[in-house]
Amino acid sequence: MKLLVFAGRSNVGKSTLFSALFGVRVRKGKRPGTTIKPNQLRAGDVLAVDLPGYGYMKGVSWEYSERVRDFIVHYIENNANSIVLAIQVIDISSFREIVERWESRGEKPIDIEMCEFLNEVCRNVIVAANKADKLDRKELERELGYAREKLRTEVIPISAKRGDVKRLKSRITEVLTKEGVSISFRH
Ligand code: GDP
Repeated sequence: MKLLVFAGRSNVGKSTLFSALFGVRVRKGKRPGTTIKPNQLRAGDVLAVDLPGYGYMKGVSWEYSERVRDFIVHYIENNANSIVLAIQVIDISSFREIVERWESRGEKPIDIEMCEFLNEVCRNVIVAANKADKLDRKELERELGYAREKLRTEVIPISAKRGDVKRLKSRITEVLTKEGVSISFRH
């Protein structure tokens, strides 16, 4: 079965996006436990896979966040041939701040690293810039420009919370059609 995978830092709104696209609630009890496993859902000819959120977050040990990152990398490598499209979700309202914080420490921001990795391994990659509703029009254009420059990947603004995902849906459909795979979203 072909895979459509979703990756993103914790709290960027990946579960909200999944509900907006597929009309189902995923990830119950998302307080990290000991098992790391992706949520998946059949959507037409494709399996939509919600990978665990990566990156450090409150209440989670550094060791756990490393395990999550390793899990994602292995999952993507092991399934490279089945992945038709990888969607990386970012929070466009805080992307620049986080990138600048890492860069000021001389480190490579995890979102940039993940995006480069996805581009190396996956046939198609799209970045979904979520929480666009938190910015005004002008700020949004500026932040999208920044994200495009940093990630060198197609970036599409969305607001998962408002159900504003139309452009992303049509791009997903386009890419999957090109790959000969049909997808069904919520109706
Ligand atoms: P996940 O950890 O990536 O699965 O993130 P969630 O879907 O649980 O969302 C994290 C938080 O961001 C929640 O408080 C959501 O209500 C909020 N959120 C998700 N999408 C949006 C959005 O498009 N706009 C705004 N303003 N908040 C959002």
